[in-house]
Amino acid sequence: MTMNRRDFVKATGAIAAIGALGAPGIALGQGKKVVVVGGGTGGATAAKYIKMADESIDVTIIEPNEDYYTCYLSNEVLSGERTLDQIKQGYDGLKARGIKVVHEAATGIDADNKVVKTDGGEYPYERCVVSPGISLLYDKIEGYSEEVAQKMPHAWKAGEQTKILRSQLTAMDDGGVVVIVAPPNPFRCPPGPYERASQIAMYLKEAKPKSKVLILDSKQAFSKQGLFTQGWERLYGFGTEDSLIEWQPGPDATVVGVDPDNLSVETDFGDEVKGAVVNVIPPQSAGKIALDSGLADDSGWCPVNKKTFESTQVAGVHVIGDAAIATKMPKSAYAANSQAKVTAAAIVALLNDEEPGVPAYVNTCYSIIGKDYGISVAAVYRLSEDGAEIAGVEGAGGLTPSDAEDFALAREVEYAYSWYDNIVHDIFG
Ligand SMILES: Cc1cc2nc3c(=O)[nH]c(=O)nc-3n(C[C@H](O)[C@H](O)[C@H](O)COP(=O)(O)OP(=O)(O)OC[C@H]3O[C@@H](n4cnc5c(N)ncnc54)[C@H](O)[C@@H]3O)c2cc1C
Repeated sequence: MTMNRRDFVKATGAIAAIGALGAPGIALGQGKKVVVVGGGTGGATAAKYIKMADESIDVTIIEPNEDYYTCYLSNEVLSGERTLDQIKQGYDGLKARGIKVVHEAATGIDADNKVVKTDGGEYPYERCVVSPGISLLYDKIEGYSEEVAQKMPHAWKAGEQTKILRSQLTAMDDGGVVVIVAPPNPFRCPPGPYERASQIAMYLKEAKPKSKVLILDSKQAFSKQGLFTQGWERLYGFGTEDSLIEWQPGPDATVVGVDPDNLSVETDFGDEVKGAVVNVIPPQSAGKIALDSGLADDSGWCPVNKKTFESTQVAGVHVIGDAAIATKMPKSAYAANSQAKVTAAAIVALLNDEEPGVPAYVNTCYSIIGKDYGISVAAVYRLSEDGAEIAGVEGAGGLTPSDAEDFALAREVEYAYSWYDNIVHDIFG
């Protein structure tokens, strides 16, 4: 049987109509809709870049909080170098771009019907982006809980927790020990606990010089360790009797329990360590909504297609930021921002029936160790040939040299501040 052009058009028209009926969003006149769960670093960037690339896409962010406090530079709030207000960001810039922001928490993602649910309503999507950050696994440390964190703060989600830890530090008598319990890998911001120790030591050196910071770690090594310890030696007497910072490595220093009444922690070795201030950063997994929506595997983190960040477990849902398994990329704001841009480009392509491009990614992470003393690590990543890895590009990026001169270390602090101003503008502006 031969088919003339008219028959062909009639037939493909019918197929297109069936296709449209089969896609509930389009059948309901939904158009191109993207719903973003989590308006933090990853989510807000993805929303902005999708809207910038294709204004016709209807973009909605679901985010419970009206203000977002960046974790980055929150360690400076602990030392008094910066106020909490200076790390507060809002959503007016995104709203002005035509992005809808709904201040509710997502309670579920119905991937069969392509709907994000909240207590207040249902939000249909064609593509969904999930960037919920981390869950803190309180129950991995005996005696620790969200309630106990009011007394032994984690301050690993910035805002109220940062305020509590800062007020405990200022109220502490000179001579007190500040215990930092560092989490096991993988966790949000690998250099973060060590930058925190540095910032607190900087404050103690000025305000309470008889005090010290004790890091109890479950790990035997940590990010930028050589550069951190070099800075601690120069600034805080690390390695001497009077050091303002002491680091005890795992496995002996692994903290397995806490006693909030006594302000003490118990190590796997059976030691009880008492602090005047105790900062417990527990083990972590992907944010709860990702776990509840079947996006995480047994590791507690979310496997994704490394080219598009689409979940390998739930079609149509892209997971980015800390929650995603991004192989070599660390769980950092810059990484979340970079993944969000790749994902935005992929979603715009997919919604316009185009093939997503082959991505490259970047990350830079500054740590401020003391006044006029900063260090950094930078990397460029590329998708491996088989698409399974996000691999570092050799020769691109690197660490602050260990023989960097004072002016260069001071300049790293300036770079860190300008990085902050640039990235928050890039995300929320
Ligand atoms: C002390 C510290 C210092 C850091 N310093 C740096 C640094 O110098 N440089 C750097 O690059 N990175 C740094 N980071 C890491 C950085 O903050 C994170 O990697 C980054 O915020 C991850 O982005 P995200 O989008 O995955 O999560 P987040 O930015 O945490 O955003 C998650 C959002 O999802 C929302 N959410 C959660 N559940 C739901 C739900 N059910 N429904 C709707 N919304 C939900 C949350 O309210 C939140 O706003 C630091 C982290 C810490 C803790």
